Amino acid sequence: MCRAEERAEERDDAHWMRLAIALARRCPPSDVAFAVGAVIVDADGQEISRGWSRETDERVHAEESALAKVPAGDPRLAGATLYSSLEPCGERASRPRTCAELILDAGVPRVVLAWREPDLFVRAARGISVLTAAGVEVVELPELADAAREPNVHVLGRHWG
Ligand SMILES: [Zn+2]
Repeated sequence: MCRAEERAEERDDAHWMRLAIALARRCPPSDVAFAVGAVIVDADGQEISRGWSRETDERVHAEESALAKVPAGDPRLAGATLYSSLEPCGERASRPRTCAELILDAGVPRVVLAWREPDLFVRAARGISVLTAAGVEVVELPELADAAREPNVHVLGRHWG
């Protein structure tokens, strides 16, 4: 990849992440779960689907909701990037399948996140390590972490005073 293409990809990553963060603001409010947005984009830069926390039921996660809208085996998933404002969960109390497992099941090869899961609801977040161990490329955009955290300040404040 030449330098110009790399810069274009970085710009696209920030663009899609800003959309994921905007979607996080649509989440029904909760004091005990994070507001997260997710977008799945194909290799040509076309959106495949989007989702947010608690979109379809009170326990659904953003990545799970976005993935549920794509038929299993959709060939676009093999070249797709999943953008999530928060690190996909690698450990979860509410459902048997974690988002990291759902991403692996779907065959999505690249994940971009803005904010690493804080040590609040799980002892140590494992999403990134589960994904990278399975060969998924994980890209972090720390410059957007504050924006991804912003819809969650009330949850963080409740637990951290
Ligand atoms: Zn999850």
